[in-house]
Amino acid sequence: MRSHLLNDTTTESYRRSVTEGVERVARKLATTRGPFTGVTPSELAPAVDAVDLDRPLGDASAALDELEDVYLRDAVYFHHPRYLAHLNCPVVIPAVLGEAVLSAVNSSLDTWDQSAGGTLIERKLIDWTTRRIGLGPLADGVFTSGGTQSNLQALLLAREETGTTDLSKLRIFSSECSHFSVQKSARLLGLGRDAVVSVPVDRNRRMQSVVLAAELEACRAEGLIPMAIVATAGTTDFGSIDPLPEIANLAAEYGAWMHVDAAYGCGLLASRTRRHLLDGIERADSVTVDYHKSFFQPVSSSAVLVRDGATLRHATYHADYLNPLPQALGSARAGGTPSTLAEKIPNQVDKSLQTTRRFDALKLWMTLRVMGADGIGELFDEVCGLAREGFELLAADPRYDVVVEPQLSTLVYRYVPEAVTDPADIDRANLYARKALFASGEAVVAGTKVDGRQYLKFTLLNPETTPADIAAVLDLIAGHAEQYLGENLVHA
Ligand SMILES: *Cc1c(COP(=O)(O)O)cnc(C)c1O
Repeated sequence: MRSHLLNDTTTESYRRSVTEGVERVARKLATTRGPFTGVTPSELAPAVDAVDLDRPLGDASAALDELEDVYLRDAVYFHHPRYLAHLNCPVVIPAVLGEAVLSAVNSSLDTWDQSAGGTLIERKLIDWTTRRIGLGPLADGVFTSGGTQSNLQALLLAREETGTTDLSKLRIFSSECSHFSVQKSARLLGLGRDAVVSVPVDRNRRMQSVVLAAELEACRAEGLIPMAIVATAGTTDFGSIDPLPEIANLAAEYGAWMHVDAAYGCGLLASRTRRHLLDGIERADSVTVDYHKSFFQPVSSSAVLVRDGATLRHATYHADYLNPLPQALGSARAGGTPSTLAEKIPNQVDKSLQTTRRFDALKLWMTLRVMGADGIGELFDEVCGLAREGFELLAADPRYDVVVEPQLSTLVYRYVPEAVTDPADIDRANLYARKALFASGEAVVAGTKVDGRQYLKFTLLNPETTPADIAAVLDLIAGHAEQYLGENLVHA
């Protein structure tokens, strides 16, 4: 069994098995006909069930053969131009190379003594990101597992900064289109069930700052504490960007922590033509970025950034075995201060909710070193431009109703046949079309509700997708919806 352990004597087997795996994936990517095969859970489950985990195959080739049947053949492929559903991106090759390196070396970014240069690389990327945002000289941050964790950590800092122990008094303000992780975080942080005040959006799905102002005033009048305002820079459903400058003004006026959830919109940080859409983000107290969305990085790659690095102390705990405090105090007696010592031994665990932590930063590092930020920004600009073209297609198409002009790369629309008047029938036809399309494997689109009605959604993150793909998928959807209506509205 030692032969499977990666060490100085097994490098040939490492090279062979990884190369074989890469070969297979490369062949797969080059030959997939659609984003999905349409397999159902009940069709696929028997193959997975049949695998006896207590009887190993012993050999990588055999395991890869088996993987073809239980996973690779029927996976959902985000690199395919007709995958148009969620906030998943095709990944850039330098990042995949970074992934291969970081898994093999297996650094853990909790402490310097488990990562060395990895810690410095992560810190440099954090600084790079805070400079792009404009957070100022005291800024800091840390890589996280995703936007959900980044939002949780930001709100933890916001809660602690209020200095309040009466958690029932704390309120978080976010738009009705904000991500559900805001609600989830509030619960995890022990806030009351009504802690999150949902602020309505305008017709472009951006938070109404006038209503936010009124809600903040009401909060103050009731003797409650405005803990944080969460502005979303790129809502998950619409890609809409809340009015950041107005929100920053209100946060300052009411003494609330301003968090910008730019999990989706962060790609604009690398754009040479659209960066202005994030104007005002530089006034945030904290920012969430998901490189695994608009920086074309493999999952996971995310970070939380803060204006004042000292606030990260709210995530700091000490363990004798890992990052001991006594060591710091001992050195203080020897003449240094604990804080200078802490600076000398950079332990990222002091800033993180996680302990053992992947060196995800390496993927972004390789990306920037090979392609540069402009390369990423150009890819994101392309999909934003594509969304604009898709919007024009939809707006000109009498079969469809499209909700908002895209600020980023999302289109929300629905099939609306002229002859059908009952909105519930239209809901069902759209729902059916989405499912039928998925089952056909020809394309994958998402769905969402707008004002209680069923809509469909394209999240465009693949620069390989063309307007012709969008037009073709709209025809497929219309075909499925018409078929449904033909079979189910015989009376019509
Ligand atoms: C995706 C998303 C999140 C959650 O990020 P994960 O990486 O999926 O945990 C949070 N906020 C917004 C606006 C998002 O789009």
